[in-house]
Amino acid sequence: MKGILNWISPVVLLVLLFAFSAGCEKKQTSDPSDRTFISIGTGSVSGVYYPTGGAICRIINKKFKTYQIKATVESTSGSVYNINAVLNGDLQFGIAQSDRQYQAFQGEKEWMEKGPQKDLRSVFSIHPESITLIATEGSGIKTIQDLKGKRVNLGNPGSGQLGNSQDAISAFNISEKDFKAEYVKAVEAPGLIQDERLDAFFYTVGHPNGNIKEATSGRIKVRIIPIEGPELDALLKKSPYYAKSIVPARLYPNALNTVDVPTFGVKATFITSSRVSDDVVYAITREIFENFEGFKKLHPAYQVLTKQNMLDGLSAPLHPGAVRYYKEAGLIQRIDPSLLP
Ligand code: GLU
Repeated sequence: MKGILNWISPVVLLVLLFAFSAGCEKKQTSDPSDRTFISIGTGSVSGVYYPTGGAICRIINKKFKTYQIKATVESTSGSVYNINAVLNGDLQFGIAQSDRQYQAFQGEKEWMEKGPQKDLRSVFSIHPESITLIATEGSGIKTIQDLKGKRVNLGNPGSGQLGNSQDAISAFNISEKDFKAEYVKAVEAPGLIQDERLDAFFYTVGHPNGNIKEATSGRIKVRIIPIEGPELDALLKKSPYYAKSIVPARLYPNALNTVDVPTFGVKATFITSSRVSDDVVYAITREIFENFEGFKKLHPAYQVLTKQNMLDGLSAPLHPGAVRYYKEAGLIQRIDPSLLP
């Protein structure tokens, strides 16, 4: 009997795990024509995008009988990857930083050569994200200028944060050649910090999140480094998509910080392409807004969300399917008219 129990418990665990993730994992299913399959691109599993994609996915899959939509969530390289994948049709939806959405739509930065990406559409915005610089106590880094000569992760290609960390250092007249620059995924950075193979890393992310918790909770003590001063003010003046922000010290009690950390930030936004159908975008928008209180409870980074501020920080035109819901719900007056189709 005991032998059977020993054997059963891992099976029960597996079944439970499966039940918890049910609804958002990729499945090999036949594809009847009345169903719509959608994929949502997110970021590293340690960030806020991945659970956000999972939450949206579960909410829409619960209404399968009503909308016949099957959603799956994908861990990806981040904002830039998601925007490009949504534009080329590999993904139907993605989460992307508001600054990256702006740059793609205007044909700036990574999109300079390809030009303005006019098929990009906004659905709604989500949590605020801060450009967060974490450094080990032993590195002696206390300001962004102290990065010189150190080992610093700027972020992986395809992520949103790579561009933000490059903007931050150049605002302070530091070049990637002034230190040993690394370009690994955010998910790897806390481990490298704790193994003493990295002195600092940048991550543009909502707070609190598991990645920074992991980085602050190990043997190696770390602090969140402020990014402020006239150099930052000059960057914000020329970049309409950046604003000042704060990382609250209370969210990371194991970090060396005792007071809130000033930095700058952007917003996470939910994006799609003009080629995705109005009905699908309408269904997702409707289900998120109609289940707003439940959605808000799904991650502590959503604490500041209101239905109104989920319509701020958008820099590509709204998808007509989302507009249909905002009209119905009386939210349309809140929307910047230049975003309407
Ligand atoms: N802002 C990051 C990026 O665009 C992702 C943050 C997250 O996964 O929460 O790459």
